[in-house]
Amino acid sequence: TERSLVLIKPDGVARGFVGEVIARIERKGLALVAMEHRLTTVAVAKEHYAEHAERPFYGSLVDFITGGPLVALVIEGPRAIAAFRQLAGGTDPVEKAAPGTIRGDFALEVQFNIVHGSDSAESAAREIGLWFPNL
Ligand code: ATP
Repeated sequence: TERSLVLIKPDGVARGFVGEVIARIERKGLALVAMEHRLTTVAVAKEHYAEHAERPFYGSLVDFITGGPLVALVIEGPRAIAAFRQLAGGTDPVEKAAPGTIRGDFALEVQFNIVHGSDSAESAAREIGLWFPNL
């Protein structure tokens, strides 16, 4: 079994997709291990997206992630990391995410793509430690 860190980003929360995203996670068969609705500090947002620090959209991304409440979750199950990325669809919600995925169904812009999911076991360990240090 495996764990992944999922964020329902501020756009997803503001648009009322918390229940929809959690329902898709549960219907897939993944378990919820931790869940918290919270505002994110700039420090946590910068650390979470540290790999993008040199990208032109970094400042805007940090502003977006800290701009309103999000829901952070830890999910668990066999191949949870890949399974959630399948549910989410590709990063670009129009060019890459297929209909039937969270992003493919609900998003139009790359930045405002509703959810985040860890992309590897190493990222998941790092991100779970960042968002849920007590787990
Ligand atoms: P996430 O890490 O959120 O699951 P991802 O792994 O699919 O997304 P990354 O390439 O790691 O995609 O980008 C991280 C996030 O940065 C994206 O989810 C998106 O919100 C934002 N982002 C990525 N590329 C761009 C871009 N060109 N312009 C604006 N925002 C972007």
